Amino acid sequence: MDRAVKDDSIYDEFGVPAVINATGTKTRIGGSRIRTDALDAMARAGESFVRLSDLQAAASKRIADATGAEAGYVTSGAAAGLLLSAAAALAGCTVERMERLPETDGIPDEIVMPRTHRTGYDHAFRAAGATIVDVGTNDRTLGTGATNVEPWEIEAAITENTAAVGYVQKPFTEPPLEAVTAVAHENDVPVIVDAAAELPPAENLSRFTDAGADLVVFSGGKAIRGPQTTGIVAGREDLIESIALQHLDMHAADAVWDPPTELIDADRLEGVPRQGIGRSLKVGKEELVGLLVALDSFRDTDRTAQSEAWHRTATRIAESLADISGLDATVTADTDVSVAPTVVVSIDPTDAACSATELVRSLRAENPRVFVGADRLDADILTINPMCLDDDEVPYVLERIRAHASSESDSRTHQ
Ligand SMILES: *Cc1c(COP(=O)(O)O)cnc(C)c1O
Repeated sequence: MDRAVKDDSIYDEFGVPAVINATGTKTRIGGSRIRTDALDAMARAGESFVRLSDLQAAASKRIADATGAEAGYVTSGAAAGLLLSAAAALAGCTVERMERLPETDGIPDEIVMPRTHRTGYDHAFRAAGATIVDVGTNDRTLGTGATNVEPWEIEAAITENTAAVGYVQKPFTEPPLEAVTAVAHENDVPVIVDAAAELPPAENLSRFTDAGADLVVFSGGKAIRGPQTTGIVAGREDLIESIALQHLDMHAADAVWDPPTELIDADRLEGVPRQGIGRSLKVGKEELVGLLVALDSFRDTDRTAQSEAWHRTATRIAESLADISGLDATVTADTDVSVAPTVVVSIDPTDAACSATELVRSLRAENPRVFVGADRLDADILTINPMCLDDDEVPYVLERIRAHASSESDSRTHQ
């Protein structure tokens, strides 16, 4: 076993096995490696005080610059960004509504979503007080029709109770975002886009705003490699203002309430909002600064070099696994919207020493644990994603896969 790997992990000091991440930016195993420049910036941010609303106003400018949106906001993760986006769509800049959420009597509170865009993450919309109305069918997925949802079905579902349209951005989601924003805007309803994991490419920072989205949510703890507890919302100025009002500690005597005018137009509010529904999603000054520094570094990353490095790792892994009987490893083709290449390992359990499920379980029980992608175990497929895998960790991953998957005669040839 390659003991050089993770011998110095701080998790050992807590008696907790470290994880070698061969599955990409998954929150349950820690997301991504935070950039060192972001960590350094966080340490400095901890040394002094700052008014959080001033810092969010500066963040808004930088996010606007990075995304082409009117304004932006740093949240405690993409899921928090979804909750705050829904809260903004429900309450607007009406203080009385902010005060009431998640109670929505008399407030338009429906978020219309294509049925095939529903995920566990949309719990965040419901947590703000929204009711999700899903439209369309599952025809395409089931092979019983050509499309899952048509723009007219979204339009038909929009009523006077609609607060927003929700859309989950993936390379394969339909209908196209442009078509959805067009029908939503014809009906004066904003579109909230969950694009949490759709980076890189960095061009995607502006792509969904360009397609007409009113609010776009990204995770700060995935490929941006900022703090795990950060996310970004980019979008319309009035909606970002509503997010700020429902998130920041505002409650102060009116006479001394002087929020930054770039972020908040205090004159048009009935009063000073109390702690809003977003208050439990606090963002610290350290995380906020760390995210902004990481965002700059992410934008400066040489995408071609990074993509080539990921391809080299993926190819190296696929080639190395090729001689294990019962295993077939291929690298997925790149498309202009795919985030990273993946090694697809399909296992023939009659030929290999174990099934894909057994292999995944055995790898997770190692110390350090090895996490590979396990979303397609029913087809005896596991996947390996190079995004969070250091070069010096690859031999350990390969060696542990070989140890479990090789039949005895295979492993003897490799000793
Ligand atoms: C990861 C993810 C989220 C949540 O992101 P966090 O930053 O961890 O809160 C939400 N939606 C989708 C589609 C995701 O992939």
